[in-house]
Amino acid sequence: MANLRTQVGIVGAGPAGLVLSHLLHLEGIDSVVLENRSRQYVEERVRAGVLEQGTVDLLIEMGVGDRLKKEGLFHYGVDLRFHGCGHRIDFRELTGGKGIVVYAQQEVVKDLNDARIAAGGQVIFEIEDLSVHDFHSSHPRIRYRNNGAEYDLACDFIAGCDGFHGICRPSIPTGVLTEYEREYPFGWLGILAEAPPSSDELVYCYHEKGFALLSMRTPHVSRLYLQCKPDEDINKWSDQQIWDELQARLACNGWTLTEGSVLQKGVTGMRSFVVEPMQYGRLFLAGDSAHIVPPTGAKGLNLAVSDVRVLARALKQFYARGSRDLLDKYSETCLQRIWKAQRFSWWMTSLLHRFPNATPFDARRQLAELDYVTSSRAAATTLAENYVGLPME
Ligand SMILES: Cc1cc2nc3c(=O)[nH]c(=O)nc-3n(C[C@H](O)[C@H](O)[C@H](O)COP(=O)(O)OP(=O)(O)OC[C@H]3O[C@@H](n4cnc5c(N)ncnc54)[C@H](O)[C@@H]3O)c2cc1C
Repeated sequence: MANLRTQVGIVGAGPAGLVLSHLLHLEGIDSVVLENRSRQYVEERVRAGVLEQGTVDLLIEMGVGDRLKKEGLFHYGVDLRFHGCGHRIDFRELTGGKGIVVYAQQEVVKDLNDARIAAGGQVIFEIEDLSVHDFHSSHPRIRYRNNGAEYDLACDFIAGCDGFHGICRPSIPTGVLTEYEREYPFGWLGILAEAPPSSDELVYCYHEKGFALLSMRTPHVSRLYLQCKPDEDINKWSDQQIWDELQARLACNGWTLTEGSVLQKGVTGMRSFVVEPMQYGRLFLAGDSAHIVPPTGAKGLNLAVSDVRVLARALKQFYARGSRDLLDKYSETCLQRIWKAQRFSWWMTSLLHRFPNATPFDARRQLAELDYVTSSRAAATTLAENYVGLPME
């Protein structure tokens, strides 16, 4: 077995792991990122696309925002559509000039990989059988196999950035973590389509047939979603059936939904999940490994970024001054923002989806709430400031 050493061993090359590695590099702290998928796979995985103002500012500050500034779609509002009418929520006016940027997660990952590799960083793909050890001592270790050889990576800290299905969270002894969870009785059927977006801004639509979302990735590619059963069989939906359903739900006077060829389609489940605390000894969980939000609030990637920002600052303080103050408070600091994002994501989901056992009363209440959010400046401001992102710390 080959023995290696670094300061921070990072499991997972998703947004959390790569942002953390680059932030640490900018502070002169060494890290190794270990990823079980190939570079091509992580750079082609279609997921999030909405970046909060704070995420955009951080990526630019880190020197990985050049392409984002050129190719990202800067938005200063969203459309809430119900009863066949659109109602714009003006972020710029309601939040003092803030907005969001639509820039696909796989592009963020590409930019980060390029930056790490250009800076001589170590991001190792296609590793196998990774396991984490001794993280309750001051000498944690990560073991893994790569190209048939076995490695033992000694480090000062381990960052578990390995997503919801990773191995870091389950490696923490039973009884340490408390899990908070909610499953939703529906999912999203999503398509990526070669069609120019039919709206300049995202359209969130409440409809008696179920929720629909019109989003986009580039000026030529649209991303659209339909509320469906959580176990919906995607093979039962032809491309034309998907377009017909989108047409029916998104219909709005004087507006047309442009169709195009479907490049990708799939069904995503909806869940809210948080573990507390997000640390145990020298193992720190960040991003989806510690929490999941339903995608309605567009918060998952953004929370992953804000977690590692907190962790990078805490590690900087440790290496610069030998103080564990910020590290000890890591979980508490992150959870304040995470629970607010959980609340917002749950609220947006509850507001816009049809629940299977909903009564006529529930539907009338949802419509009254939509009417209130789109007609009261106070209510619209609440949506806007959460959507563009609450302060990072
Ligand atoms: C359909 C969909 C739409 C979404 N839309 C949005 C949106 O609009 N806005 C938003 O903010 N968020 C959105 N999200 C959520 C967002 O994609 C995630 O929150 C984000 O990817 C979290 O980043 P992460 O780095 O924590 O985890 P991941 O991106 O999951 O990265 C974890 C990495 O760890 C690797 N890994 C796992 N196990 C191991 C192991 N044992 N060893 C080594 N490596 C391992 C994985 O391969 C992966 O590369 C969406 C998600 C989905 C599925």
